[in-house]
Amino acid sequence: MSVTQTPVLVVGAGLAGCVLALELAHHGVPSIVVERSARPPRHSEPSLVTGRGMELLRRLGLAEAIRSEGADPDAPATVVWSRAIGEEPVLVSSTPSANELRRQYANAGGSAPIEPYVLLTGAGLTTRLRTAVRANRLIELREGWTFTDLRLDAGRTVATVFDGAARVRHEIEADHLAGCDGAQSTVRRCLGVPLRDAITPARHCTVSFRSETLRPAYPALSTITTDGTALIRRDAHDLWIGHVPLDQDDADLTNPAALLSKRLGPRPYEIVGVTPWQEALGVAGTYRRGTAYLVGESAHRFHPPSATVDTCLADAVDLGWKLAAAVQRWGGPHLLGSYEGERRRQAMLERETLSRRLEVRLRFGRLAAAGASPDSLATLLRRQPPDVDPAGATTSHHATSPVVWHDGPEPAGTRLPAVRLRDGRHLFDLLGPQFTLIDLTRGPDGRSLLAAAVARGIPMAHLPVDDPGLRSAWRSHLVLVRPDQHIAWRAAGPPSDWDAVLDVVTGHRERDHVTT
Ligand SMILES: Cc1cc2nc3c(=O)[nH]c(=O)nc-3n(C[C@H](O)[C@H](O)[C@H](O)COP(=O)(O)OP(=O)(O)OC[C@H]3O[C@@H](n4cnc5c(N)ncnc54)[C@H](O)[C@@H]3O)c2cc1C
Repeated sequence: MSVTQTPVLVVGAGLAGCVLALELAHHGVPSIVVERSARPPRHSEPSLVTGRGMELLRRLGLAEAIRSEGADPDAPATVVWSRAIGEEPVLVSSTPSANELRRQYANAGGSAPIEPYVLLTGAGLTTRLRTAVRANRLIELREGWTFTDLRLDAGRTVATVFDGAARVRHEIEADHLAGCDGAQSTVRRCLGVPLRDAITPARHCTVSFRSETLRPAYPALSTITTDGTALIRRDAHDLWIGHVPLDQDDADLTNPAALLSKRLGPRPYEIVGVTPWQEALGVAGTYRRGTAYLVGESAHRFHPPSATVDTCLADAVDLGWKLAAAVQRWGGPHLLGSYEGERRRQAMLERETLSRRLEVRLRFGRLAAAGASPDSLATLLRRQPPDVDPAGATTSHHATSPVVWHDGPEPAGTRLPAVRLRDGRHLFDLLGPQFTLIDLTRGPDGRSLLAAAVARGIPMAHLPVDDPGLRSAWRSHLVLVRPDQHIAWRAAGPPSDWDAVLDVVTGHRERDHVTT
């Protein structure tokens, strides 16, 4: 058995795995990615990458490529709620088109994302990411290689992988291993980490099909009925996706056309594919054991999904820059320790939102069955969290993170406001790949803080900004921004103990000061 060594082994080249490897490469860290499938991804589901998700991809130079795979940017995303297929809608909710939001964001403050959302298929998203992975000289993608087992040794992980084409087993010794192998994660199983589910799972299936007769009855992007069936128009060529809840009589999935006839009415259906799945709202008990980590759907499994793409993406970015800091030895132990605290908390919050949404859908069905009026059904639906939040987690914050320092008149841990400067440039586009010290002081302080950081081996860019509007809007004139565009520290002027701030934000020292 051959043995290979790598700083980081990434298991799975789906969304999370590709973004993690690309984030590592963005910081100059090489990795090996093993992907069990030798074929291109096939998910035909439309997935939404929110504005915040696109901001993260833009940092990696991927926004254009991803957007080119997207659906019509002038089409609004409309969701129709109906008692039954073919009946008058109870409620129609519409998200403005991506281009409309781009116009709105241009006039909004820094809380709006700098990119609008993109709607594209899961396969289109992963294919674009894998193309970028293949083109990156720091990433070695081994397709057709299956991870089967691991051993946690002191300070490293030894993985066993199977090369399906050569039918040979290999060992890969990695300083760090990231399990990005999806909802049925083998890495999670090998680590013995339980996935704690918040619901009793109900069975569903997703059917991809063609129908030439559905479009006149269902012009909306998506239609949801009281029995829980969701119908989604995939493209302009009569390709559809149906999410169908299964009852006792639907044990046999060998005749999906009959299932569709039962739910959507009898008409010819040309079946393209069927995927059975179970409802799930599971979050892993821990995201880390030793030097092995869970990322994306291996860490949290939400079905039906909503903001899942964004959550997976942000997990990968968060772990990516922290692993890079560990590999390059400027990150301390608390930095990697903060991955679980920052990202698991986000998954728990998303789970709460999803379970509220699921509860509303169940009540929608129960109330409709009991004969509730369309008005009262619409009132119920309006109260649920929106199905689509096109901006994404622009207000997410890590205020309680152990690697954030609170010092100044404004809180740290939040996403940097995405402002445009006087000259029209986006502040986000001027940030360096690692830490950036934004300096509005017009004096020498920023430069000496930077010199002290660089002398300690901490990669940091200095960004003096001479913008009177920003100077008067922000009370903090020194802002230290992390690679994920969140504020690590900010203050009106230089801190009394810059070394202590640097110790905390790079994870060398536990935060012991009072949080705001
Ligand atoms: C049917 C379906 C519909 C969905 N619809 C939506 C949607 O509408 N909106 C939304 O936001 N999200 C949706 N999702 C979820 C979306 O797919 C996930 O958010 C995203 O793909 C998760 O990314 P991931 O990288 O964590 O996992 P995945 O995309 O599942 O990637 C895991 C990768 O790991 C590989 N792998 C697995 N085991 C091994 C192993 N042992 N060795 C090597 N490689 C391995 C797999 O082949 C795969 O490429 C849907 C998912 C499914 C299954």
